[in-house]
Amino acid sequence: MRELVITGIQAVEWREAPAPKIESDRGALVRPIAVAMCDLDAAFLSGVVPVAEAFPLGHECIGEVVEVGDQVNSVAPGDRVVVPFQISCGDCNSCRSGHTGSCSSVPRGSAYGMKPLGGDWGGALSGLMSVPFADAMLVALAPGLDPVALASVADNVVDGYRAVAGPLRAGPGAEVLVVGGFARSVGLYAAACARALGSERVLYADSDVERLECAARLGIETHEIACDDDGLAVWPARLGRFPVTVDASGDHGGLHAAIRSTAADGHCTSVAIYFEGETPLPLLEMYTRGCTLHAGRCHARTLIPEVLSLIEAGRLDPALVTSAVVSFDDAVDALSEPPTKLILAA
Ligand SMILES: [Zn+2]
Ligand SMILES: [Zn+2]
Repeated sequence: MRELVITGIQAVEWREAPAPKIESDRGALVRPIAVAMCDLDAAFLSGVVPVAEAFPLGHECIGEVVEVGDQVNSVAPGDRVVVPFQISCGDCNSCRSGHTGSCSSVPRGSAYGMKPLGGDWGGALSGLMSVPFADAMLVALAPGLDPVALASVADNVVDGYRAVAGPLRAGPGAEVLVVGGFARSVGLYAAACARALGSERVLYADSDVERLECAARLGIETHEIACDDDGLAVWPARLGRFPVTVDASGDHGGLHAAIRSTAADGHCTSVAIYFEGETPLPLLEMYTRGCTLHAGRCHARTLIPEVLSLIEAGRLDPALVTSAVVSFDDAVDALSEPPTKLILAA
């Protein structure tokens, strides 16, 4: 089969690779139908996360089940399924607690398409993917749902959802601020999810015109952040007071603006990744106002059904964030300069 590998900055190529085989009675093989580029892929492609050795790319996938092991009951060949980006067994204490991103049956961080961080599980931009725990991982897609529209439900849409769903459950209708940036699509999905979940006001702040336009298309109030002469966002100290804030900026100024804009006893979730050095925090202000800051990966598999329910109910449409859809055959060109949210259809 062919698989797309990333070889360096803005460099990908198709290579021949042996097709995976079912590894156990609990496994399945899935043929990718639609693959979305995660915000982390943009970091690999831009060199923010260095690529020391070529590896297969792609981990936001909807596919068709091709073959299942003898013990698999929940899906059958021909089913269309969301393939969560993280590998999870469903049986260990972490998985049973809903922490499917911390499954203890596999090495920490195990995930498709990000070998330097997630191990060697293959990538979704390929002819076939091996799913080691099919019943635990795969989520069947209801008939009529468009795989191309939903490919990012495997990761980034859920990542945005978790940043607001818990806090909005605790405080229904609470106002939400999203600070955009590094996690380019996750910030937009967080804003869309906040609106879908009944937030009475969602404000999306960013310096990027394309993302601001996307937020406006989602019907979300926007606030443009000015840039300095080097094109870097100049974040104000704060943007108001919001019970729920989301930092997708990956920028110390953006993180601080989100934290300082968090209302008393409020909740700030950082969905960005701070790769370099240490990140200072305004702990005195956090202490004084009782700010809870959550950082960490989402537990995708646990939340995928909740997100699909919102989509099936017509309250959330991830396709509104999609910048472009191209075929697998055009992947090499499209990934040389990927837009905010690129979807590749097989
Ligand atoms: Zn991802
Ligand atoms: Zn597990």
